[in-house]
Amino acid sequence: QTHFLSLSLQAKMSRPVQARRLEGTDKNIWVEFVKLAATYSTVNLGQGFPDFPPPDFLKEAFTRALSRENDMLHQYTRAFGHPPLVKILAQYFGKLLGRDLDPMTNVMVTVGAYQALFCCFQAFIDEGDEVIIIEPFFDCYEPMVKMAGGMPVFVALRPKAPKDGKLMSSADWQLDPTELASKFSERTKAIVLNSPNNPLGKVFSRGELELIADLCVKHDVLCISDEVYEWLVYDGKEHIRIASLQGMWDRTVIIGSAGKTFSATGWKVGWTMGPNRLLQHLRTVHQNSVYHCATVAQEAVAQGFQRELELYGKPESYFIQLPKELQQKRDWLVQSLDAVGMKPIIPEGTYFLVADISEFKSDVPDIPDSDEPYDSRFAKWMVKNKGLAAIPLSAFYCGAHKHNYNHFIRFCFAKEEATLKAANDILQKWKWEKTTP
Ligand code: PMP
Repeated sequence: QTHFLSLSLQAKMSRPVQARRLEGTDKNIWVEFVKLAATYSTVNLGQGFPDFPPPDFLKEAFTRALSRENDMLHQYTRAFGHPPLVKILAQYFGKLLGRDLDPMTNVMVTVGAYQALFCCFQAFIDEGDEVIIIEPFFDCYEPMVKMAGGMPVFVALRPKAPKDGKLMSSADWQLDPTELASKFSERTKAIVLNSPNNPLGKVFSRGELELIADLCVKHDVLCISDEVYEWLVYDGKEHIRIASLQGMWDRTVIIGSAGKTFSATGWKVGWTMGPNRLLQHLRTVHQNSVYHCATVAQEAVAQGFQRELELYGKPESYFIQLPKELQQKRDWLVQSLDAVGMKPIIPEGTYFLVADISEFKSDVPDIPDSDEPYDSRFAKWMVKNKGLAAIPLSAFYCGAHKHNYNHFIRFCFAKEEATLKAANDILQKWKWEKTTP
């Protein structure tokens, strides 16, 4: 009996189990806000996914892939990317970049852009290496750098007031060239660029990209270029690929996502592109972790790109139609936010729009000295009391800077007209209640 008891006491683990590299990376904004939205929201403009379906041609490609004679599509495929997919990606992006891409060595398919990012940090970042991250940033960059042993170094886009009472644009948020240059040192291994940027919707101009490129070349630094919103640019703006600038192909990994490209975020098909000198190390991480991605989804995405190649530059192309539709949705949301005084920052690209909540502060009293930034408490209050889900902008800043940007929230406008109308109704009613004694 006693022998049994002492054994079972011994069996209970008492040693610390968490690997040191996980320290400080356990909190995740999406886990928290997705749960809140699921519990309380009637209108969810929080997490970035469309509530409209992917195009028919893509869904049909998936069904065809499932029902085809070729039962091998249910089995493993090539580890670094299903051959039809890497071939068409090489062809399509080769055309855009004006260079020959080898499907087998210049392209690798990943489980969404998320895994592509993970592969980059694991493949390139050593203990103590610095990685420059431009704020506001897609939040996972920071923990991923830390898990690889690296040190994130932050540089913020600085907003400047727009002229003559006009609404602010994401283009008004700019890097200070001197400040950016001061972040580069011999310890800098990489910079993460995300254009079009989540959460602001900023599309970096050629001048801004050249500034970054020059610094990368001068300091011999890698560029991890997250371009998942590459097709989603508005008002005739152009998405410029930094890899196409002088000296950059050799030091850039381009990251893309079929989720954003074809409005199918749940498929989790993403990719990386770049010189073999860089991609060979991504393949090492990939083969030692995920190994390969769902074959049927890759086959369908390959067919989607095949169709887009045939319709390249034509009005029927999804890559032309989708931004047109989203621009209209953006304009609706801009109008409804502006009408109630929640000042929108007009995004040049992406699914997202950031709005200033200053005029609504009286509804959610501030708690001075709270650790939680004001916008986070505001967003939680809003979903619980108004049923409208959005994401606080401070979630896209490092701990030290969160409190400097705490009066904005991010909305996702990649939603059906009915969803945006329901959001508008909530905002109008709220405004009416505020102003009616
Ligand atoms: N990068 C950015 C900037 C994103 O916004 C997202 C998705 N929200 C991702 C990467 C991840 O993309 P995926 O869903 O393809 O993993």
